[in-house]
Amino acid sequence: MMNKKRTISIKDPRLQRIRNSLRYIISEATIKETGELVREKSKTNIDDPRRPILANKRDKLDTAWKKSICVCPTCGSRTNDMTFNPANESWFCVKCYQERHDFYIEKARQGEIWKDGGGRPSTGWFP
Ligand SMILES: [Zn+2]
Repeated sequence: MMNKKRTISIKDPRLQRIRNSLRYIISEATIKETGELVREKSKTNIDDPRRPILANKRDKLDTAWKKSICVCPTCGSRTNDMTFNPANESWFCVKCYQERHDFYIEKARQGEIWKDGGGRPSTGWFP
């Protein structure tokens, strides 16, 4: 698992199209699998032991999707360059990440923010 902030930018429009197509394919596969899990669960009775297993699978898939580089969990973009946030191990589009980072910096400047272990203002969840 990565533990550093990192941005992956693709400038070449052809490579951007390839990246976006791959994200689309993964998105479609995730939607299809989620739909199948929901359908399968809906066929079970309330006391069926498979029910919580199916719900758990769906939750894990949903979490993996939201944390993936394929989608920004804030704005839903599937076509932007992404920045990895080590604080919650998720990818955000560059714009959303920067907005949150700036928010924490501003709050730190105003003294309205959490302190790190050394008593210094911290940028919190968006280093
Ligand atoms: Zn975004």
